[in-house]
Order: sequence, then C-alpha cells, then structure tokens
Amino acid sequence: MSTTQDSSAGTASTGSLSSEATVDLFSQYVVPNYGRYPINLVRGEGSQVWDAEGKQYLDFFPGWGCNLLGHCPDLVVKAVQEQVAQLIHVPNSWHMQSQGQWAKMLSDRSFGGQAFFCNSGTEANEAAIKLARLHSSADRYKIITFQGGFHGRTYGATSATAQPKYHEGIGPLMAGFVYAPFGDLEAVKAAVDEQTCAIMIEPVQGEGGVRIPPEGFLQGLRAIADENNLLLIFDEVQTGCGRTGHWFGYQHFDVTPDIMTLAKSICGGIAGGALLTTAEIAPSLRPGMHAATFGGNPIAARAGIAALEMIERDNLLENVAVLSEIFKQRLTTLQEECDFIKEVRVIGMMIGLELTIDGGPFVKACMEQGLLINCTQGNVIRFLPAMNLTEAEAHQGCDILAEVMKQANNAE
Ligand SMILES: *Cc1c(COP(=O)(O)O)cnc(C)c1O
Repeated sequence: MSTTQDSSAGTASTGSLSSEATVDLFSQYVVPNYGRYPINLVRGEGSQVWDAEGKQYLDFFPGWGCNLLGHCPDLVVKAVQEQVAQLIHVPNSWHMQSQGQWAKMLSDRSFGGQAFFCNSGTEANEAAIKLARLHSSADRYKIITFQGGFHGRTYGATSATAQPKYHEGIGPLMAGFVYAPFGDLEAVKAAVDEQTCAIMIEPVQGEGGVRIPPEGFLQGLRAIADENNLLLIFDEVQTGCGRTGHWFGYQHFDVTPDIMTLAKSICGGIAGGALLTTAEIAPSLRPGMHAATFGGNPIAARAGIAALEMIERDNLLENVAVLSEIFKQRLTTLQEECDFIKEVRVIGMMIGLELTIDGGPFVKACMEQGLLINCTQGNVIRFLPAMNLTEAEAHQGCDILAEVMKQANNAE
C-alpha cells in the first residue's frame, strides 16, 4: 500500500494497485472508448490530487468540470455520509423532502420555476428537447442549435451537437435539428420557419473552446424567440451552479431562458442533473411522458443542497471574481510573451487559451510538472478550476504553465 494514503483511502478497492496494474486491468476489461492517461488517481482534497505512486498534482480541471468545489468538499461529504446511512434510494412515485427543498433552492437562485431531476447533462438535454416539442403544436418540432456546441452523447443530444466529428458512423441522427453559426443572429433569423419550436444554446460554449458570445447575441436570440413564439433553452451543464461567478451563466448576459439544463457540478461531484423551467411550461412534461429512475434521489438531493450551501458559506462567488482576475492578468501577460497564444478567454472559472499550434503537448508537459489541465478542439488549453482554489494555487499553476509555454516559445 502506498505510504501517502490515509486509512480511509487504503482499502482493498481503492488505491492499493499501482498505476501500471490498473492500466492492465483496463486494457483487458474496460471498453477503450476514452483516451486515458496511464495514471491511477486515488485520493483528492480541494484542488490537490494524488496518484497510486504518491505523486501530487495541482488540479486545474477537477472532475472534468464536475468538482467545482474541489475534491471531497466537506459539506457534500457530510451530507452524503448521513444520507447513505438513512435512505439510499426511493423512486419518484413518492415525495422526498430533500428533492423538494433542492428544487426550491435552485428556483430561488434562478428564474423562479420548477425542476425535473435526472442524472447527467445529456439526460437533462433530452428532457429539454422533449419538453420543447411537447409544449409546441404537433407540426412544430425543429430546434436551432449552434456550430461548435456540445450537448451530450445520447442520440437526441448528439444530434443537437453541431460537430460533424461526433456524428461519423452513427447515423441516421435524430431529425429536426438545424445548425447555425455561433454569434450570427442573421443566420438564426433565416433558419426559423413555421416548424421551429426552440433555440438551444450554451451561454458560453465549453467543449467548443470556451467561446464567449459576442455582445448582444443572447439578447438577440431572446428577441427572435419572442417574435416567433419559440422556447429559448440554455444548456448550462457546464456554465451553471457558480462556474462563471454568477449562480447561472445567463445572469451575466441579462437574458432569461425558458428552459435551463444543469448537471456536472450540480451535486458537488456526485452524479446529478436537472432541468428548470417556468411554472407555465412545466405542465407540458405531463405525467407518464418522461422520467428518470434515479433522478433527484435522496443522495443526489442532499449533495445538491450541500453544494449550494457550501458556495454561500464560503463566499465562493466572490472568490471566483478574485481568482478570475488573477487568471486574466497572468494569462494576458503570458500571451505577450508567447507568439503562439492567439486569445485569452476568461469568464469566472471557465478559462480558455486559444493557440495557433497544437495544445496536446502542453497538457503532457504540465502533467509532468504536477499540473492537470485540459485541451479541447485541438488548440484550446482549458482550465475549469474549483471555485475554492486558493490564490496561491492559482499563481502556482500559472507559474508552471508559463514555464512550459515560454520554453516552447524559445524553442520555436
Ligand atoms: C458535459 C456537457 C454535457 C453532457 O453532460 P453528461 O453529464 O456527460 O451527459 C452537455 N452539455 C454541456 C454544455 C456539457 O459541457
């Protein structure tokens, strides 16, 4: 057993295998549909994580955006521990007070609607697609989505995702999605016809490369939706729950959606998802039309409540404002020093560095130096740091990245 583990992590099922032995298990028994680093992570605390060999990493991409409160956030851990000993699961044929309380907390912090709970982002978006069609007359079914967007991996959500690389070989896709260029209001107007029922968009594109919409774009979509009696759906699976420094991404842009989807960080690292919509639209998802067996289960609900409470207890929305200024400054300075950094994009704890060269080697080089980051779309370095990252950690990670990038700049 590795010497760095505490007693709770040192059980037979967690962390007693070397990274190499774990990789062997995967190569024999796990479907190879992910590109995985050859590292077995065994323990985490805040923005620090340790592998089976005891190497420590600073994590600027904790849980692929799910661990917005860092690894093992104390209130979430406590809520889950309590709940798991009390009642693990009850189906949605019963009332559960924690699901009701969680729905109220989300409603109070957003536009005052009602929640449907599920377990993931793609499921939340499937619910949104069904709801948009159910709420509209039978001949209206088309949904306008955006190039570079990402909505998930089930067929509806994949069909909504306007990125050809995710469609290769799995067709036919679900009919009814019309793709428009991100940021182009005229193209959206031209795409609307009598059969259109909704517009669906991420307020800031995440997987597409941390693309922040041009000034006025989301307001323009709201106006088009209102003029044509369309529903405006915001996929806030990545931007929601505090990520951008507001409770929800839409609150940056002075636009309110009719439907909002949430997942990733919603339960502080536990699996969960939700759709929020107004009390007028909600009844269109009528009994029997949609369901998720595990949706809003007591453990997810307690974790979801704890995540919201922790953001408030620790003033994390304010912390994000401070941290994002640090990242803006550090990365803008770095941009001046490295010719290959094309653009720095920072909104809260969503951070993208668009490069003119391949970003993959920087992910590897940073990992060797003990910093975990991501690269999306081939050339966008992406961080989704925890809201409770410390200022010292922010600087430490930026130091590592700067060193790695300046070396590459000098070598060019
Ligand atoms: C990650 C993501 C999804 C998919 O979420 P899953 O939980 O993996 O199904 C959908 N939309 C956006 C914007 C995402 O970032």
